[in-house]
Amino acid sequence: TKESVKGFLRRNLFVLLTIAAVALGVMLGFALRPHNLTLRKIKYFAFPGELLMRMLQMLVLPLIISSLVTGISSLDSKASGKMGMRAVVYYMVTTLIAVFIGIVIVIVIKPGKGLRDSPVASSGTIEPVQAADAFLDLIRNMFPPNLVEACFKQYKTVYKKTIYTKNVTITLNLTDSLNATEAALAANMSRVLQTIQETVVETIPVSGSSNGVNALGLVVFSMCFGLVIGSMKQQGQALRDFFDCLNEAIMRLVAIIIWYAPVGILFLIAGKIVEMKNLAEVGGQLGMYTVSVIVGLLIHGLFVLPLFYFLVTRKNPYTFIAGLLQALITALGTSSSSATLPITFRCLEENNHVDKRVTRFILPVGATINMDGTALYEAVAAIFIAQVNDMELNFGQILTISITATAASIGAAGIPQAGLVTMVIVLTSVGLPTEDITLIIAVDWFLDRLRTTTNVLGDSLGAGIVEHLSRQELQSQDVEVGNSVIEE
Ligand code: ASP
Repeated sequence: TKESVKGFLRRNLFVLLTIAAVALGVMLGFALRPHNLTLRKIKYFAFPGELLMRMLQMLVLPLIISSLVTGISSLDSKASGKMGMRAVVYYMVTTLIAVFIGIVIVIVIKPGKGLRDSPVASSGTIEPVQAADAFLDLIRNMFPPNLVEACFKQYKTVYKKTIYTKNVTITLNLTDSLNATEAALAANMSRVLQTIQETVVETIPVSGSSNGVNALGLVVFSMCFGLVIGSMKQQGQALRDFFDCLNEAIMRLVAIIIWYAPVGILFLIAGKIVEMKNLAEVGGQLGMYTVSVIVGLLIHGLFVLPLFYFLVTRKNPYTFIAGLLQALITALGTSSSSATLPITFRCLEENNHVDKRVTRFILPVGATINMDGTALYEAVAAIFIAQVNDMELNFGQILTISITATAASIGAAGIPQAGLVTMVIVLTSVGLPTEDITLIIAVDWFLDRLRTTTNVLGDSLGAGIVEHLSRQELQSQDVEVGNSVIEE
């Protein structure tokens, strides 16, 4: 009919516009590079991109909360329990496979061998207990004491190091575990003091917080809230209607912003290309490391995940992926899976016709905890740093890296370069020097975009898979409430 032709054209119009935006952005970026714009000018130039980022982020919080609450409260607890289990199994299995691929590739390619002539003795890793603290932080963040604060702050352990000697007591507040100089200073000082007199060094974790949404806490709360509202039957109707309506309204805002997205993406990409300084580094010393991460992400994203989707659904995964193109490009442009979330919703619901009850429930959870690309990258980066330091890893250590890389990917927020920060967990767990994170910072902005795209792909294919596996529950709910099937 006329309507569906129109709909078809419109969908393709967006994909075409987005692809055109990327192409134009790349061209514009390279055309401007020779002009050596100042950082200030680049910032002005990239402003339309910054605006897109802000608009998307603006929608994320209400979107996560409203979609989870409606998604879960509209299912009976048995159905949502089953769907949740399926999603968690999918997340775990695919994340572990991603880590495995990363490990195999980095061991085969050996990008870090011989990069540093003589291994530098680790000068100041804070303490290996950091991995345990980071793990506890992950769980702490699931239970935010203040929901409003959770919208802009996370809990993060910081350390207080006290050095007691006979005559002197030195207290250092290590406010940031990534601050290598501070850590090195503390370590050196305590070493010096230890040689001259009996010294007690005490490092204690103290509370702290860092800026950024605590999405994990909000997800946990919204899920529980949705479950409770769902169980309240008639009494909960007002709240169900409220969140349902809120969700619908937010999705309408998404439908407006999507018109602006190609413009924003154009400038995000062009701006980054004008700005990038270390093109040589991407291809130089870090070249093989970059290649290892890219190869791993490609194998995982283009073969493993699609194969998974095919084996479960018996449908063509690449048709499904084609429907996601706009979300994937937005992930590439914004390097944030949480900022991409509104677009991911649109692509799955409008293009791929995934049942709204599934997307509402599964997508916000996936965007928060399921990060295949990040997990793969964490494993590659950690083993790369071990290779640089000429450190042979035994099987147990590699196993530790797999587990901590998975935890680090769960703990990483869906914001740019969050994975670089959670690297600390992986490195300290096997005694690698945290200050060596500086080795890989130069190329991280680039790898971040690619791993974010893989993250979004994994979440989306997961929604498709969970929908397929849950069709029975979804159908029986339709009969129960006398709904007609929402999509299909
Ligand atoms: N930027 C990534 C994301 O949003 C997280 C990461 O840094 O790995 O998915």
